Amino acid sequence: MPDLTAAESRPLLSIVAPVWNEEQVLPEFHRRLAAVLDRLDATVEVIYVNDGSTDGTLSIVRQLLACDRRINLINLSRNFGKEIAMTAGLDHACGEAVIIIDTDLQDPPELIPELVRLWKAGHDVVYAQREERKGDSWLKRATAFCFYRIVEKISEVSLPRDAGDFRLLSRRAVDALCQLREQHRFMKGLFAWIGYSQIATPYRRDPRYGGETKWTYWKLWNFALEGITSFTTAPLRWATYLGLCTALLSFSYATFVFWKALAYGDPVRGYPSLLIIMLFLGGVQLMTLGIIGEYVGRMFNETKHRPLYFVDQVVTQHQATVETMK
Ligand code: UDP
Ligand code: MG
Repeated sequence: MPDLTAAESRPLLSIVAPVWNEEQVLPEFHRRLAAVLDRLDATVEVIYVNDGSTDGTLSIVRQLLACDRRINLINLSRNFGKEIAMTAGLDHACGEAVIIIDTDLQDPPELIPELVRLWKAGHDVVYAQREERKGDSWLKRATAFCFYRIVEKISEVSLPRDAGDFRLLSRRAVDALCQLREQHRFMKGLFAWIGYSQIATPYRRDPRYGGETKWTYWKLWNFALEGITSFTTAPLRWATYLGLCTALLSFSYATFVFWKALAYGDPVRGYPSLLIIMLFLGGVQLMTLGIIGEYVGRMFNETKHRPLYFVDQVVTQHQATVETMK
């Protein structure tokens, strides 16, 4: 991490924007962001975290860098995913408040003054809450709806509904977040977990300005699994109860079979019921093993204690230094 903590060089506000293959949107995003920042009564640093883009994104950031001295660049060594790109940005941000924003213009930069206003009013986390999700398919909306409600029901922390990563965090909230170094990072959960005074501000989520969403349904499913397994062990408890229920059922059926054999004798019959029970029990066992496996796998990943990411290059302009990290 670069040593930028000298109090006098500390900018008031950091904007953290993860970018991955956004060449179509980035110039327009920065134009709109800069227009907002120009009017803002604060010193600002904009941190673009290039998450291993394979298109022209990096060279666009470099061009922007040359024209706008507020911009800093963190170039990650490969694509690590948005959650880790955000973490890298938070690690490097020096602002007294940090705003996380997507670069596809689904999060309108015009909302930033409102986030700042609520922060100045004394809140530590100001998150933008979607009123409508224009441009998202009904299936995505329906799955998102279910996901938020399921997680809310089964985990100890309550996730704010329909809030993405677009938010402002105060310095102490960022410091708290930076202490959470788990590999399986479900940021929406971590934001909620740290606590402090949190407040929502509504906004309309626009469709993507250009390019395509990086989320396939398979990725979303895995993201949902991540959300559930990193925030609650409830599924393990369900597995126990499921096991208990099937054991009870099996026991009562066994009693019935035993009684029937005693009362009526036992001609060799019952192949279908035997098969059904075997298949059923086998299925239940495999499923519970799978649930346990999800957690064991995560424990395996955590125990390796790997760093979360590697940085190829950091360019910090307000100090006019360029440093290369391994
Ligand atoms: N992003 C990233 N790394 C990834 C995937 C996405 O940095 O592996 C960035 C992307 O460039 C964008 C933001 O995260 O700025 C949100 O991505 P996207 O629009 O694909 O997600 P959605 O809005 O559909 O949830
Ligand atoms: Mg998007």
